[in-house]
Amino acid sequence: MRVGVLALQGAFAEHRRMLESLGAETFEIRQRRDADRSFDALVLPGGESTVIGKLLRDLGLMEPLKDLIGKGMPVFGTCAGLILLAERIEGEPSPHIGTMDITAKRNAYGRQLGSFAAEEDFAGVGKIPMVFIRAPYISACGERAEVLARCGGKIVAARQGNQLVTAFHPELTGDARVHGFFLETAAKRR
Ligand code: GLN
Repeated sequence: MRVGVLALQGAFAEHRRMLESLGAETFEIRQRRDADRSFDALVLPGGESTVIGKLLRDLGLMEPLKDLIGKGMPVFGTCAGLILLAERIEGEPSPHIGTMDITAKRNAYGRQLGSFAAEEDFAGVGKIPMVFIRAPYISACGERAEVLARCGGKIVAARQGNQLVTAFHPELTGDARVHGFFLETAAKRR
């Protein structure tokens, strides 16, 4: 299993480490031609969604990645990655990649709760640690998407076919089960 990790900005190194600890091969997607390599799954890390979105457009990576996802490439978006995949972003006129039937609310926990940790159930995985950093949540999950986890009543993980998103950062915990869950579903789609 070879996983391309978008490496324009943000927490991509931690994703690579976790994926490799699970036996996957990884490489960084930094420019247009990296998207032409052969790979089985894609990870969109946390960071700043406006920055990553702008770089995706400027580098000509937006359309190729959107195309791959549309054709069924398994994709895992964490935090800013969730925002990139959302079809709707509260208060913003247009989405970025916009392939998932969810509404993202950015910086949704306010200033005081900018960063925090929790432990909640994740469907099909069990109770997992969740680290939130200026995180979004999913304020509405459309019919095509399925809720996988909530925290404090808010939706913090969902999937839709080949797309998986978490508002939190599983790559910043010592628990690799969400990445394992992603690789398993990706292997089935191969
Ligand atoms: N606040 C960031 C955004 O809106 C997301 C934070 C993160 O990825 N840790 O893009």
